[in-house]
Amino acid sequence: MSKIVLIGSNHAGIAAANTLLDKYPENELVIIERNTNLSYLGCGTALWIGRQIKGVDGLFYTSGETIEGKGARILMETTADRVDFAKKIVYATQKDGKKLEEPYDKLILATGSQPITPRIPGIDKKGVHFVKLFQEGQAIDKALDEPAVQKVAVVGAGYIGVEIAEAIKRRGKTPLLFEAFDTSLATYYDPWFTHDMDKNLADHGVELHFGEKITTIDGGADGKVSGVTTDKGKYAADLVILSIGFRPDNALGKEHLKLFTNGAYHVDRHQRTSDPDVYAVGDSATVWYNATDSEAYIALATNAVRSGIVAGHNIGGTALESTGVQGSNGICIFGYKMVSTGLNLAAAKKAGFDAVYTEYEDYQKPGFIEEDNNKVKLRVVYDKKSRRILGAQMASLSDISMGIHMFSLAIEEKYTIEKLALLDIFFLPHFNQPYNYITMAALSAKE
Ligand SMILES: Cc1cc2nc3c(=O)[nH]c(=O)nc-3n(C[C@H](O)[C@H](O)[C@H](O)COP(=O)(O)OP(=O)(O)OC[C@H]3O[C@@H](n4cnc5c(N)ncnc54)[C@H](O)[C@@H]3O)c2cc1C
Repeated sequence: MSKIVLIGSNHAGIAAANTLLDKYPENELVIIERNTNLSYLGCGTALWIGRQIKGVDGLFYTSGETIEGKGARILMETTADRVDFAKKIVYATQKDGKKLEEPYDKLILATGSQPITPRIPGIDKKGVHFVKLFQEGQAIDKALDEPAVQKVAVVGAGYIGVEIAEAIKRRGKTPLLFEAFDTSLATYYDPWFTHDMDKNLADHGVELHFGEKITTIDGGADGKVSGVTTDKGKYAADLVILSIGFRPDNALGKEHLKLFTNGAYHVDRHQRTSDPDVYAVGDSATVWYNATDSEAYIALATNAVRSGIVAGHNIGGTALESTGVQGSNGICIFGYKMVSTGLNLAAAKKAGFDAVYTEYEDYQKPGFIEEDNNKVKLRVVYDKKSRRILGAQMASLSDISMGIHMFSLAIEEKYTIEKLALLDIFFLPHFNQPYNYITMAALSAKE
């Protein structure tokens, strides 16, 4: 029997805890969590703020009682202050100030990530918000109830910024979306896709300010936000929401453990850090990225869950290697759906591949199907020399999301573009065309 201390109980921590409690109940598990809640699905924040779902209850998929019921000891509202890695002790402070010491045989760091805070004047003004924790979502939700709040500056047009901009519009306010790149979602999709999303946003009333960098958050003598200044202009705003990315929370191990370029804990395929008794999972750790066959940082809930499962098994005694990830992701904004996996063209070139692409656009189903038959766009990025598929992007008003999982597997298994052209893809008019867009894209590969 081992004593395992787990710090952090969101997606990665809960996945590790469930694996240990369900499969290896002979061990002692102590969970330390500084927040008041666990297992919060941040992906639901925009849906809730935009009133696309009834409430927040469904955004928590487990509870302290459930985890305790399986035998763990949970210390909620308790912050792990430091770890003595030589003595193998975690030092923590409870809400009431009481100090704790928790010795461990194995330690799991599931401390996640923190929003990146830009170093710009005005960042401390009242009315500046981040979108990470449940409590931050609550604060934005409350602020949007105020009649005085009409214009909201959203900074960063990645996934979260775009989703929050939609939610603000759905609440009847005016979102101004600022982005230093010249399109939304630039790191995931090629311009063929992002331009559609930009048009979609603009058509639905999101005011786009792309290719603009925020330099100052402006405010009055009352300390409240009054607007933002960029390198191109000055804009009035009653609220500012910052969504410019996340950095790994490495506070507990940064002096002791080997770190990746952005500070994430370096882990092997077993989620083990450079200290053999310490595992790191989720947003605090790196992943193995099959598209580039290298270590990378890709902060996603899906990766967090898988890494927690892998760590749980390895600590429990079953050697299990991570299969690596492709960074598969999706987004749905005002009904327009985009999904991608692996590298887009720019990322593939940057990674050193002789990257080219093939693409196809067609109706999903034959022309004689009149209902629920929308166009689908597909681009497949591959390496010109090895022919290996490196990434894929798809978009439609229809739900075509399941198709991207096949590309995820293709990247993982190093499938070639030529093999894709001959892949057995079934045909039924209810679902697709005899010459479907996947086959057609592969057959159209010229280079
Ligand atoms: C608005 C939003 C939308 C998102 N949408 C999606 C999506 O649609 N799909 C997707 O795959 N991903 C999405 N993500 C990303 C996803 O939420 C993260 O990848 C995921 O939360 C990572 O889980 P984690 O458990 O590693 O870390 P976190 O969620 O960051 O949790 C870390 C936990 O550790 C605790 N902790 C940290 N330090 C200490 C300490 N010293 N002592 C005690 N406790 C500590 C924290 O309180 C926290 O509970 C979204 C994120 C946000 C913010």
